[in-house]
Formats: sequence, structure tokens, C-alpha cells
Amino acid sequence: MGLDHSSIVVYNLNGGETMSSNHQRLRSKTTQIHRRLLEAYGEPSWRPHLDAVSELVSTILSQNTNDVNRDVAFERLRDRLPTWEEVRDAETEVVIEAIRPAGLANQKGPRIQEALRFITEEQGELSLNFLADLPVEDAKRWLTSMNGVGPKTAACVLLFSLHKPALPVDTHVHRVALRVGLLPEKTGAAKAHSLLEDLLPPELYYPFHLNMIRHGRTLCSARDPQCDECPLQEVCAFALEQRTPVPE
Ligand code: SF4
Repeated sequence: MGLDHSSIVVYNLNGGETMSSNHQRLRSKTTQIHRRLLEAYGEPSWRPHLDAVSELVSTILSQNTNDVNRDVAFERLRDRLPTWEEVRDAETEVVIEAIRPAGLANQKGPRIQEALRFITEEQGELSLNFLADLPVEDAKRWLTSMNGVGPKTAACVLLFSLHKPALPVDTHVHRVALRVGLLPEKTGAAKAHSLLEDLLPPELYYPFHLNMIRHGRTLCSARDPQCDECPLQEVCAFALEQRTPVPE
């Protein structure tokens, strides 16, 4: 399973004019996987997303929980403290109590308030709209300089709210990409962001992200991948390895 060592060397060269045939092969495999997922799940339509500050809070709430619990916590927070200024300035206990359904409330509450304070101090207002005018790498750096904001949270804010070319790699995208062999074995989620972004044109980040999540939640679950029914089985490193006969 995974990639050979030469792939890792190619990644370090960061594409461009030095792109090897192995890197080209990976790009073409990624396109093939994207097409197969489109055939299986269709073209995801762009749904209206939250403003950037709300997306940031929602994504912090989503860490280590499911979408339902995240949304319940988000709505409770908004009901109790209707503006982000109120959330920022509230007693931390009030925030923690409001977001309890999302789990890890004792960590997420202070983290959300810290982020809101950081934005205010740096920008003079509670808005992230200025990020739309920054080059995407600068915007990522700015967001991830906040405590508790990693590459996935930054990419969600940038892609969903500000329509910037960033590809969020959540647990499903990460697992499926490792299994099919788009990432070197043992690549961590943080590193996976730049590697996967390099394999696709930016306009495909949104549909690829959503369909990989869908695939990870259905056929390619963590515990029980359904390789026999999977539209990716002919190109998936994990499935091909399972089929390879063990020498006697
Ligand atoms: S073939 Fe199996 S491991 Fe590969 S993507 Fe499909 S379900 Fe996942």
C-alpha cells in the first residue's frame, strides 16, 4: 500500500518544471478518482456557506464530533449570544455551557473566545473578510497563527466562505487518500493538505473534498471498507494489495 520512495522525493521538489513522470502519474490518478467519484455521487452543488467568522467558529466546534452535534452547539451558542462580539466578551462558562453538545467544550469554548479576541486585536473588528484579498498561502499562515486553528480549519474558512483555492483534509479525505495511494504512507493530515492540493486544479477542490467525504462515510469507512462494491477498486492501492496472492 502507499507510494514508493521516489514519490516522496518528487513531492519535495514541489512539482513545476521538475515534475517527474511519477508525479504526473499521481495527478492523472487523482483526476481518475475524481471522475469515478463524480459518476458515483454526482457533482456536488455549491451550498450557501457561513460568513468567515461563523465558519471559523463552526469548524472549531466540528473538531472530534459529527455534523449534527456541531450544528446543535452552533445554534445554541447563537441563541444565547447572538453576536460574535457577545461570544467574545462573555464569561467563558456561558460559552462552554452553550456548546456542550459538540463535546470537548472546556477546550473549544476558550479556543473560540481566544480566536475572536485575536481577530479583533489584529484587525480592529471582528471580521475575516480581509483574507479574501491576501494570497492564499498568506491567508493560511494568518489563520493558522491562531491557537487551535490548524490547516483543515483554515482551509474550510478559505474555501467555503471566501472561495479561495484551499482543500480541507478531514479524517475521511485523509483516510481515503492514504488507502487509494495518493499520499505517501503515514503522511499526517497537516502535510496531506499541500500534497493533495498539488494533485488537482483548484476548481476541483470543492467537489473532490465533498465526494471524498461522502465516500469515506459510506463505502470506505474506517473500520469496514466495502472494496468489492467500490468504484475505485481498480485504482486503489489498498484494494489491489488485498487481491495480490500471498506467495507460498
Ligand atoms: S477500494 Fe476499498 S479501500 Fe479502496 S477506496 Fe474503495 S472501499 Fe476504500
